[in-house]
Amino acid sequence: MNVNIVKGTHDIYDDDARAFEYIEMVLKAVAEMYSFQQIRTPILEYTELFTRSVGESSDIVRKEMYTFLDKGDRSVTLRPELTAGVMRSIVTNKLYATKDLPIKSYYVGPAFRYERPQAGRYRQFNQFGIEAVGVTSPYQDLECIMLGYDALKLLGFKNINLKINSLGDQESRNKYREALKEYFSKQIDNMCADCKERFNINPLRILDCKVPADQEIAKNAPKMRDYLTPEAKKRFETITNTLEEYEIPYEIDDSLVRGLDYYSHIIFEFHYTTENGLNVGAVGAGGHYDNLLSEIGGPALSGVGLALGIERLYAVMKDDNLLKEEKLETDVYVMPIGEDSIKDAFGVAQILRANAYKVEICLENKSFKQLFKRAENINAKLAVIIGENEIKNNEVVLKDLHTQKQVTIPLKNLLGTLDMMFDDKEEEHDHCSCAEDIHHE
Ligand code: ATP
Ligand code: MG
Repeated sequence: MNVNIVKGTHDIYDDDARAFEYIEMVLKAVAEMYSFQQIRTPILEYTELFTRSVGESSDIVRKEMYTFLDKGDRSVTLRPELTAGVMRSIVTNKLYATKDLPIKSYYVGPAFRYERPQAGRYRQFNQFGIEAVGVTSPYQDLECIMLGYDALKLLGFKNINLKINSLGDQESRNKYREALKEYFSKQIDNMCADCKERFNINPLRILDCKVPADQEIAKNAPKMRDYLTPEAKKRFETITNTLEEYEIPYEIDDSLVRGLDYYSHIIFEFHYTTENGLNVGAVGAGGHYDNLLSEIGGPALSGVGLALGIERLYAVMKDDNLLKEEKLETDVYVMPIGEDSIKDAFGVAQILRANAYKVEICLENKSFKQLFKRAENINAKLAVIIGENEIKNNEVVLKDLHTQKQVTIPLKNLLGTLDMMFDDKEEEHDHCSCAEDIHHE
């Protein structure tokens, strides 16, 4: 009987793995352009970290966490997001005291949420994100949004839909919460069970409800923007004005509250619809926070973060054909002809690898037809063919798989010839120069 893959998880291999790596490479490069440094935190954390940071009223903590008791009866959780771990690390390692502020970290890695699997929604998925901690300026929030915007542009996204909203400061939110309670108190009996619970713990969460009938009711609810204190309003305006100045299109979405409890002031989401109309939900999201670090025992430092879902980026990039370059490339395929040639061919492959060529070798006795099929599958540029005659004469056959031209050369010249061909290639950029050049040697 087959052992199945865990529901909602997925394997990533070959071209897809290369595509994931490419996406992560671009994201890391952008983070480094903005001078963020990498942080790697454990996948496993004490459950309390998430109940205190992500928040008791969030869907994540209420329904989506992989929580279990370890053998020492401690409640641990597979991280549902990475921000909490970064904050815990700042506290654990006292980075706020030992490092200059701001602390600017980026991360990439898996997160786990027990959700109903569907397009763009997995139970184990990968997030890339950044956190800047220890700056209060709204320009830090802007930097974070712009980093996300730049990253999406560099990945090839054209019409990025940036949604923003402000949750204001504590005072703004307290007033707003009262107004929402008042509004929903008349309707709550007709709303879903989740909303009834949200009404008691955090009525803001009701605005996040995905049930259409509830969304209809929420449409006419009071708007956060009418409850912002003058300071909170000014902060929000600095951000919107600057986005306009830099011609970054945005849309103010009054129903945007985000799924995590720790935000205040600006929150944002990046949405994207492919040319075929594929929309997998938000590709990334983030916001400003004031109490997150102090909530878990650190100092009262503000911060701002952004997280992008790699699976969702991948899905839309694939649909929009933005990943076509991510193919396997092999420099040389070494083809032994006959069982007896394998040993010598093996030695040749090892020498080429030691000289930094990407080499695959066939280690079975295969027909020419099979060998060339494989060469095609692995996108090999050149074949080095080694048979009984070649071994006897200390030679190899070098074949350019693009032009199909081939030459026989002394084995001792192989490396020099390849170096010359690949040097040319770098100058000419495209593929390596053809075997004709070898004749002129
Ligand atoms: P959603 O509203 O779609 O559930 P979220 O608000 O829960 O998203 P965040 O916590 O902001 O998501 O996570 C940041 C990003 O991680 C999302 O924008 C998305 O790209 C990705 N993401 C979140 N949950 C999943 C999931 N279950 N599978 C794949 N990617 C996900
Ligand atoms: Mg979610």
